Amino acid sequence: MEKLVDPFHRAISYLRVSVTDRCDFRCVYCMAEHMTFLPKKELLTLEELDRMCSAFVRLGVEKLRITGGEPLVRRDILTFFRAMSRHLEAGALKELTLTTNGSQLERFAGDLASAGVRRVNVSLDTLDEAKFAQVTRWGRLPKVLRGIDAAQAAGLRVKINAVALKGFNEDELFPLLDWCASRDMDLTFIEVMPMGDLGGEDRLDQYWSLKDLRARLAGRFTLTDLAERTGGPARYVRIEETGQKVGFITPLTHNFCESCNRVRLTCTGELYMCLGQEDMADLRAPLRAHPGDDAALDLAIRAAIARKPKGHDFDYSRRRVDGTVSRHMSHTGG
Ligand code: SAM
Ligand code: SF4
Repeated sequence: MEKLVDPFHRAISYLRVSVTDRCDFRCVYCMAEHMTFLPKKELLTLEELDRMCSAFVRLGVEKLRITGGEPLVRRDILTFFRAMSRHLEAGALKELTLTTNGSQLERFAGDLASAGVRRVNVSLDTLDEAKFAQVTRWGRLPKVLRGIDAAQAAGLRVKINAVALKGFNEDELFPLLDWCASRDMDLTFIEVMPMGDLGGEDRLDQYWSLKDLRARLAGRFTLTDLAERTGGPARYVRIEETGQKVGFITPLTHNFCESCNRVRLTCTGELYMCLGQEDMADLRAPLRAHPGDDAALDLAIRAAIARKPKGHDFDYSRRRVDGTVSRHMSHTGG
């Protein structure tokens, strides 16, 4: 079967799937405190998610990242992970992974490992209990730390993702780094992005440029740029003094679009070809219209990939938030 290639000759090998818009946290940069979530009937069922992901795997997707919302709060989500493991066993899928806030990892780490998950990204912005409760509103740090322990005990490789927030975790740059090193975890910093209407949070006030963060690191350590590319917005350096790898996700200050290999599926079956653009394709309609036959779905996926844009329009450079996209991160799945 012909693989998915977009008009700019980029092979689409990576699908990020949001399996729910719900979450047990309310991080200030991601959600408003009082969110209205989608009615259940709008969501793809687990069987539909299976059909959808299997179609992408058939068309050449080799890496699936499950996200949300918080993927581990979706009821019976393990059934879905177990179903996807058949593609790992068949060799079509090279990696099945997830991004989580860690709150449910204590419960699920062992089963995720049994389903073939080898790595997990845990989002954690601070190691201070009070600050953690402040930034996540509903989250509790000790529970997340127990989740990370459980993941490592189950043999999962853990990477920490921290959103760089001005005046919030600037003072934790080195403590976070030391903590990750002591636990043999990679660390990636994410620049805050202009997503969604968060009800009064001023995003320019939250913005801490990773250029500045990197300069602070370079003030203490020798940094070597790594050639490693994942096809996404992450760039990596090695800290020569410790051997540690640190990532920077800078969708705003760098253009990474030329090597973009990914698309994003929402929990309602909308396919976003670019995180920074409004254009999307409804894949739920062709999926539901033909319950026993995926030909129409495959065609709809191909038609969507043929519309993948060259790049995104985020820009903070004029000190106002340009190219803002109105949907929430929890909708497109980070
Ligand atoms: N709930 C899971 C979690 O927090 O890891 C998965 C979904 S969450 C939307 C995925 C990632 O997006 C998290 O690392 C989170 O910190 C990040 N994120 C959310 N809102 C963001 C924003 N406005 N700018 C940058 N990153 C954001
Ligand atoms: Fe939930 Fe993740 Fe958004 Fe935080 S970043 S509110 S944990 S979906």
